[in-house]
Amino acid sequence: MERLTKDDLTQMDRGYFENLAPKALIDLACRLRDFSVDLVERLEQNSKNSSRPPSSDNPYDKGNGKEFKSEEDDKDACSEDENNSSGDEEHSDSDDPMQSNEVKRSPGKQPGAQGFWRSEPPVPEKIVPHYPTVCTGCGSSALKRSDRPYMGFYVYELEKTDMGIRIRCTLEHYYGAVCECGHETKARPGEGAVSRLEGRKEDLKLTEYSMVGPMLVSFISALSVRYKMSRVKIREFLSYWLGLELSVGTIDKSIREAGVACFPIVEALLEDIQKQEVIHLDETPWYEKGCLRWLWVVISSHIAIFHIGSRKKEELLGLITEAFFGWLVTDGYLAYRSHKKRQRCLAHLIRKGIALTGSVDKKAQKMGEWLLRELRGLIKAVAEDGEGGQQCNLILARLKRVCKLGSEEEHEKLRALAKEILNDWDAVIAFVKNPFLPPTNNEAERALRHAVIARRISFGTRTTEGSRAYAALLSVIETCRLRGQDPWTYIAETVALGRKGMVPSAIRA
Ligand SMILES: [Zn+2]
Repeated sequence: MERLTKDDLTQMDRGYFENLAPKALIDLACRLRDFSVDLVERLEQNSKNSSRPPSSDNPYDKGNGKEFKSEEDDKDACSEDENNSSGDEEHSDSDDPMQSNEVKRSPGKQPGAQGFWRSEPPVPEKIVPHYPTVCTGCGSSALKRSDRPYMGFYVYELEKTDMGIRIRCTLEHYYGAVCECGHETKARPGEGAVSRLEGRKEDLKLTEYSMVGPMLVSFISALSVRYKMSRVKIREFLSYWLGLELSVGTIDKSIREAGVACFPIVEALLEDIQKQEVIHLDETPWYEKGCLRWLWVVISSHIAIFHIGSRKKEELLGLITEAFFGWLVTDGYLAYRSHKKRQRCLAHLIRKGIALTGSVDKKAQKMGEWLLRELRGLIKAVAEDGEGGQQCNLILARLKRVCKLGSEEEHEKLRALAKEILNDWDAVIAFVKNPFLPPTNNEAERALRHAVIARRISFGTRTTEGSRAYAALLSVIETCRLRGQDPWTYIAETVALGRKGMVPSAIRA
């Protein structure tokens, strides 16, 4: 028997069933049951039991259902993971050996795996000497340099040429010098901020004592964050195309280093964004060590800030502080509701309206079309006539009427949408009285798009430091883009300054 269509369902209401002969009614009931079974089975499909992509899964069901709720919970949520990964292999309580293996395997090189080392020593193009300039004892600059360096190391740096790029290798030599006062001063590689991470053997320190030069650090970050290449692919790329052999660990460290060097810039941007007149805000699921987190974006005409954290209101208050008095353009998420000057994204409401026009219920279909017509008409009228036009007032009156009627209807989705608009009325129509406000949140959604694709490729970050570094790099790259600046030269400068312990310069407006 043929499957029931939407049109068939539209015609079957209580009155129709009541008039059917018992035999026909039972047949129809059976067909409706078969149809429901099929639907229920389809509802239960996900990436594990069908060919649906993982991105279609409910984010709350991922990461073994774990979600970070607060900083406190962070530890609880992930301690389970840590216990498993460091715990002894033999005593597994898990029934599923595949599952437990997955959790236990720590990232990176496994014990007993083949090592990775340079087969030939690097050949430097030139030797760069570093001498002390003043005596650290008495401050005199009359120093007698020693003939031999007391330390040296190789640095690979990426050089931009007229038509391309090349890698150059230098040998950095550090010298000591003796002063007339008898004190010996040594030139030392610069040192900057240190990023600590619990359980890590070695802290991440910004320092000039590094094999990877600032521009190369920036280049590796570009390959990772902007071009979404994995660490392994970057190693392969550098080896094949530039003849440069770097380990995955060194590549990973370089990306983090670039992120850590960008932390102070993000802090300055956070202060600046509080003074903006209109900012867009949005969030999307993110995974940190398999736990559900949220990637936030706050974006204005020339500042973009990304942040990975919980979805709580407190997290939001860290981004949009009480010092912010401008307009907020958002979707309907409740955490935003307390801000007074707010524009609700109409694109979200329009999408819900479109869903209504496709519903089985005839009346809901009609009301949905009406609602959609008024919402779209309103955007068009404001764009054409500006504020306060006669046309706008008429549309507003009609929109309110359809919402009031809809809010009394039985159809659940129609009622919900109508009430949603009525309950948030001022935010829905704020752009009518303030024509400089965009009626949609496209800016923020577009900014998140890149990260959403990255999440599908990389399945998120692994540590709090990694999350913060990733968000900081995204913030700097996107802010540079908004201001028409080259992010990669800027990040290279920032790394170079950071390695000397100096504050980065602000991004040019
Ligand atoms: Zn001296």
